[in-house]
Amino acid sequence: MKRLLITIDGPAGAGKTTVSRELADRLGYKYIDTGALYRGVAFEARYAMVGQDDDIGLENLCNTLNLNFVKDERGLRLLSNNSDITDQIRTPEISMMASAVSARPVVRKYLLGLQRNLGREKGVVFEGRDMGTVVFPDADKKFYLDASPRVRAIRRYRELESKTSQTVEEVEREIRLRDENDRKRETAPMKPADDALILDSTDFSVNEVVEMMLSYISN
Ligand code: C5P
Repeated sequence: MKRLLITIDGPAGAGKTTVSRELADRLGYKYIDTGALYRGVAFEARYAMVGQDDDIGLENLCNTLNLNFVKDERGLRLLSNNSDITDQIRTPEISMMASAVSARPVVRKYLLGLQRNLGREKGVVFEGRDMGTVVFPDADKKFYLDASPRVRAIRRYRELESKTSQTVEEVEREIRLRDENDRKRETAPMKPADDALILDSTDFSVNEVVEMMLSYISN
């Protein structure tokens, strides 16, 4: 069967990561988590003490960055200048910083090139916010995965449980704020592509969502 480029966009906690990973596994495809790239930029900006709205500083930083993915027995790992930063980019602080730097056109421009490069070979599932609208408008199959804000907060809380002292309410506030930033920004706002299949995962298991996607892909 022809190998495809598949995009899955949607807000935080909608289940994109788990679903994308599972879908890629079932199809024998690669999986790319583009949110990790925005987190990587935020992490390095913090380390270099570059402000979230310092466009010149961010541009200089991006020009020296070397972000890439490797896969090992733990899954997809993000390397920055060959050091593994996967575990360090999953904090609430980096989530908010990622959302702030992702609104800066200089950062989006830098990551646009990097993401398109990663998509040169077909047989990939890309997860993000603007995969189907901006990065890969010609993707073969596009999905937009959503869920109710409460369910998304509970899912994100469970993921973070051992790593955060936040309550579910705090997690919910944070993801609502982040979604609002992501939806309202001028450059590449989060929204479904016109030709995306919109799925609401609130009442479905990962397996059920993946099955729906597989049946859409094979049609
Ligand atoms: O997916 P994840 O929650 O890890 O993404 C972190 C942040 O990166 C998002 O809140 C969003 O601001 C940004 N992002 C983006 N475009 C993408 C992927 C992520 O703006 N394609």
